[in-house]
Order: sequence, then C-alpha cells, then structure tokens
Amino acid sequence: MSAIRKIIKIDEGLCNGCKLCIPNCPEGALQIIDGKARLISDLFCDGLGACIGHCPQGAITVEERNAEPYAEAKVMENIVKKGENTTRAHLIHLLDHGEKDLYEQAVAFLKSNALPNPCETQTMEPAHHGGCPGSRIRELKPAAKTPAQATGVAKVARESNLQTWPIQLHLMALPAFE
Ligand code: SF4
Repeated sequence: MSAIRKIIKIDEGLCNGCKLCIPNCPEGALQIIDGKARLISDLFCDGLGACIGHCPQGAITVEERNAEPYAEAKVMENIVKKGENTTRAHLIHLLDHGEKDLYEQAVAFLKSNALPNPCETQTMEPAHHGGCPGSRIRELKPAAKTPAQATGVAKVARESNLQTWPIQLHLMALPAFE
C-alpha cells in the first residue's frame, strides 16, 4: 500500500544522461532511458539520496510524495546478482544512514539464501578492512579509574562521555554573520 515518504526526484531538464548516478545507486533504482536518468521503481528507492552527491548537474533531489513502500527483500534480490562489492556498498549505505532495521532485513535475506554477508568476510576493500563501518556497533565503557583519579587527587585528562560507536553527525547551516 502506498504512503507518503521520501523518494528521489530527477529533474529531466537538468539531467544530461551522464550516467554518474547509476553506479552510485547500489539499490538499482536508476537507469538511463531515452538519454535521461529514470527511477525505474519506487520499490527500489530508499529515499536516502546516495546518488545525489554524484550528480554534477544537481538534477537529483529528495521529495516527499505518495509512493510504494521501499522493499528491502526485492532490492536485495537485484543487488546480490551484481556481486559482493555491490552488496557491501548497499549494506554500508544502510549503516551510514543508521538504517539498522533495513540492514537486519538485508542480512536476513542473505542468511535465508545461504549467501555470505560481505561485511563479515575477509575480502574487504582497503577502505573497509575489518568489516563495514557501523556493523559492529558497540558500547564504550569508561576506563577503570586509577586510585589517584578515584580519590580526585589527579585530574590529568578529561574523561570522554561517548557512550556508543560509531556516531552519526548532522551538519547544521549557521546564519550568515553581518
Ligand atoms: S548524474 Fe545527474 S545528470 Fe548524470 S545521469 Fe544521473 S541524474 Fe542525469
């Protein structure tokens, strides 16, 4: 059933068909048809906008409109056909956006089809040695205090209040100074 949600929008007037967005949509939601990038199915677009920063024309934006719900299992059916690197890129994309539920759905799809999780294999690209960032969300516990710190005698370093890792940062636009 369709509902209002975020989904990408392509301005055909700005799109020149350069194809740069295509490999940057691991979900396979985009294709070049008649010289323009097209969203081939609402089901494949998660609305997270991974493709946006790769469009030199600024032709891609995210809008809110009535759309079929994003379907992780359907996306995974296409993604696994493209190989391990594409699957890994998709999983990293989900984790980078904090989409833990979708990530779990993707991992469940891999498991139910007896496919390896590229985030857990050792064949990582150099940038991702040790697993997909965020796939190992963990709690950071403060280090045990030394006797001197416990008694408040020594206050050498400031203690971190960081509770979880990784963290997600959101940039805010600041008002211009006159
Ligand atoms: S990157 Fe932008 S200009 Fe190039 S095909 Fe995609 S939408 Fe069109």
